[in-house]
Amino acid sequence: MSTRRQFLKQGAALALIPLVPAASLTAHAAAKVPLDDPAAKALRYVEDATQANRADKMGVAASDQVCQNCRFYVTTDAGAAWAPCQLFQNRLVAGPGWCAGWVPKA
Ligand code: SF4
Repeated sequence: MSTRRQFLKQGAALALIPLVPAASLTAHAAAKVPLDDPAAKALRYVEDATQANRADKMGVAASDQVCQNCRFYVTTDAGAAWAPCQLFQNRLVAGPGWCAGWVPKA
């Protein structure tokens, strides 16, 4: 049973939750991985997989490996041109890109 006092306390607690504009979340999430980023260099990330020196991996031909079919490419749109990559702290990577961390989607 909820009393009026409990209701007011819950309302006050909710009022303390900072309101983050959705636009700022989108802007943060929309940052692309720069090609000169140290992690990108370490993983040999490229925005065009055909420019990468790939090798067959986990039974998948090198030429078939792109971000769009990587486990770390986070999107429900298989053909998305850009999407967050879990390996790069959810910054955007190019769908036709590739890096050495490529793993096939499960
Ligand atoms: S981990 Fe996968 S999605 Fe992320 S950059 Fe490398 S190949 Fe692309």
